[in-house]
Parts: sequence; structure tokens; C-alpha cells
Amino acid sequence: MKPDVLIVGAGFAGSVTARVLAEQGRHVLILEKRSHIGGNAYDWLDENGVMRHEYGPHIFHTSSTQAVEFLSRFTDWYDYEHRVLGWIEGKLVPIPFNLTSIELLFEPQRADHLKEVLIREYGMEQKVPILELRKSEDQEVRELAEFIFEHVFKYYTMKQWGYTAEEIDPAVTGRVPVLVSYDDRYFQDSFQKMPDQGFTALFEKLLDHENIEVRLNTEAMDHLSVDLDAHTISLDGAIFEGPIVYTGLADHLFGYVKGDLPYRSLEFEVRSEAGQVQPVTTVNYPTPAEVHPYTRITEYKNMQKEAPKERTTIAVEYPYAYHRNGEKGNVPYYPVFTDASKASYEAYRSLAEQIPNLYLLGRLAEYKYYNMDAIVDAALALGRELLEKE
Ligand code: FAD
Ligand code: UDP
Repeated sequence: MKPDVLIVGAGFAGSVTARVLAEQGRHVLILEKRSHIGGNAYDWLDENGVMRHEYGPHIFHTSSTQAVEFLSRFTDWYDYEHRVLGWIEGKLVPIPFNLTSIELLFEPQRADHLKEVLIREYGMEQKVPILELRKSEDQEVRELAEFIFEHVFKYYTMKQWGYTAEEIDPAVTGRVPVLVSYDDRYFQDSFQKMPDQGFTALFEKLLDHENIEVRLNTEAMDHLSVDLDAHTISLDGAIFEGPIVYTGLADHLFGYVKGDLPYRSLEFEVRSEAGQVQPVTTVNYPTPAEVHPYTRITEYKNMQKEAPKERTTIAVEYPYAYHRNGEKGNVPYYPVFTDASKASYEAYRSLAEQIPNLYLLGRLAEYKYYNMDAIVDAALALGRELLEKE
């Protein structure tokens, strides 16, 4: 097959774009360096019968009907609403921090008063980013905000990012607002379901098309060369004229000419245990690193459709700075958003713009904190754009 379109990466970004183009008759070649499809959403049944998420817990939640309609062609779903508890002063309380969290951490009279103050200030069923809560004009709200900041955000953020909550982009902590509500779900999206047979099975169907060829264990940069003077990219020595959708690291594509972009990495300590070890899928540890050196523990079977009873598999998450050649922390999981890193990324984006048939897409290539549904939407949009351009 002579490809019309070249895609680097078989995660959601690359696979959804591939499918859209393949269904319109384009021959798509995907190069994937890992030994499997699915990107970071890859899951598999382990020896305990647990559906393990190799790269950390992935929960599908969205308010995008377009993403749901598209993905539903490749999977059935089962209901699952994610709940997270945080280890605070030795108790397990709902995260996002909500009215129940207040009740669990304060004496009844004090709790009633604090709830009243919050409701008066913001109204019920409201979401307030912690950094906004800390700036409230009401002194009692500010005091409560300091308590929540100290016990939920301060140390978790330091552990997760290696930066303080003030140094990192406010949108990051804003992902987990304080909830003026008794809703104890981690997400409030209208659609919260998991793929019936797991994410990998979804990807198998998504990529099962006669116009799609996936080459696993294939590092793209062993085959691609970028010519910044000629504004071209060659595949195995011949200039590739069709669209190139690149979903890997932008700095890697350009040989790190503008320096390394900062990413955050994780290491998962996976343990096999008897029975069930925690009441919810994920328990967060927003404590100083000296108390708990990890950020969260996930018990995968608690979000599984038909979970095994006897055994369980848990993963303890340890954040690391990303080093591409490091022994640990060598998988780039999160872009690290500071003013300096955003400027560095812009330098790579400018280089990419000089190559007319190159499209950067996805969490790594666009340097964006994308959830899965947002990537599906972005890939659908790019697929349509490429078809219209021809
Ligand atoms: P990826 O999934 O990273 O796919 C990129 C692919 O490109 C990879 O397979 C990679 O191997 C390949 N690749 C990269 N460079 C090259 C190269 N040079 N040559 C060949 N192949 C290459 N989202 C949610 O909606 N819900 C969640 O609960 C959730 N939990 C998450 C938990 C963690 C710990 C992390 C890190 C992310 C989570 N996400 C979650 C986000 C989700 O993982 C991303 O939105 C999604 O995976 C992004 O898809 P992508 O295709 O952009 O990137
Ligand atoms: N966060 C926190 N304490 C928590 C949960 C989240 O400080 O108990 C902050 C932290 O900075 C984290 C960010 O909110 O990185 C986003 O959390 P989310 O759960 O969305 O992170 P992800 O699941 O993407 O790792």
C-alpha cells in the first residue's frame, strides 16, 4: 500500500484521525513505537483477572455528544462514575472537596457554619477553583480556602509537578475545583461510561479498516527526516507529499534544536493483593512527600465491569521529572505548564508551521492537557479539515 497520509502514534489522536480518513478512501500508514495500540489508554487483563491500565487510570467522561456518537460505533459501554477519596488528617474524605468533606473534617456546629458561609457566597451546585476561593473578599471563606489549599492542593501539586500551585498554570488545579455540593463524583459530565471490553478492544475495532496499516515497534524518527530549509519531511528517504499527522513530542520531531520541552513523568509501583484494599477506585494522598512520597493509589478492579473477587491489583503513582534517557521517568505523561515552558513550545510550533503538510495533534504534540474526549473531538475536526483541503 502506498500511503496517502502518514500518522505518527496510535493513541486517540492518531487512531481517530486515521479512521476518519480511511473511511473516505485514503490509505493511512501509522507508525507506533510501542508494541501496542491505544497510546496511554492501553489496558489489558492481568494475571489477577484485573483490567489493568498500563499508563495510569483512564476514566471516560464527556459532555461531547459528537465524541460519544463516534466512539459508540466501536464499543458498547457500561456505567461507571468515578469517585475519589483524599487522605486528610488520617480520614478519607471526598475529592473534589465538597460539603461532605467539611462535615467529615469539622465539628458539627463549625461544619454547619462553614457550609452556610460557602453557600451564601457562591450558591449551591457551584464549582470554585481553589485559587479563586483563596482570593475571596470574605475572611471566613479565605480561612476555609487556606485549610483546603493546605490539605488538598499544596503538597499534592508539589509532588505531582515539582512546582507550587502558584507557579503552575491555574487551569491545572482548576481541573479539580471545590464543590459547593453534596455531589461526590470526581466528574460532573453528562456521559460517564467505560468501554465494555476495555480501551484496547475499542482501538482494535477503530483501527480495523482495510485502508489502515499500523506498524508497531516502529520509532518514527528512524524513518523520517525533517528538512527545515526545504520545508519538507521525508519518509525513508523520499519526500512525503501527503498530510503528516504527528502525535509524538514536538521537540523529538525537530531533533531538540530548541531545547528539551519539560514534561512530567510517573512511575507505577504495581502490587498484587488479596480481596479489595480500598473503598473507591482512587485514593489521593495530598500530604507532604515525607509522609507519603506518592500522589495516589488506584485499585483497578473497582472500576471494572466484572471484577474478580479473590485478588486485586493496585498501582501506586510516583511523579518524576521526565528524562528521555533516564532509567526512571522516561515516559512523557504531562506537559508542564509554566510561562517559560509555554514559550519554549511556541518555538517548536513556529518550526512546525513552516512545513505545510505537517499537523501537530494530541496531548504531546500540541503540548495541551487534553482529556480523551477532547482529543477525539480534535481528531474528528482535523480529519474533516484534511478532507476539505484536498
Ligand atoms: P497518547 O495516548 O500519548 O498517544 C501518542 C502515541 O504516539 C503513543 O502511543 C506513543 O507511543 C506514540 N508515539 C509518540 N512518539 C512517537 C514516535 N516518535 N514514533 C512512533 N510513535 C510515537 N483522559 C481522560 O479522558 N480520562 C482520564 O481518566 C485520564 N486519565 C489519565 C491518567 C494519566 C496518568 C494520564 C497520563 C493521562 C490521562 N488521561 C485521561 C489523558 C489521556 O491519556 C490523553 O487524553 C490521551 O491518551 C491522549 O491521546 P494522544 O493520542 O494525544 O496521546
Ligand atoms: N490536585 C490536587 N490535589 C488533589 C487532586 C488534584 O492538588 O487531590 C491538583 C494537582 O495539581 C493535580 C491537578 O489538580 O495535578 C489536576 O488533577 P487531576 O486529578 O485532574 O489530574 P490527572 O488525573 O490528570 O493526573
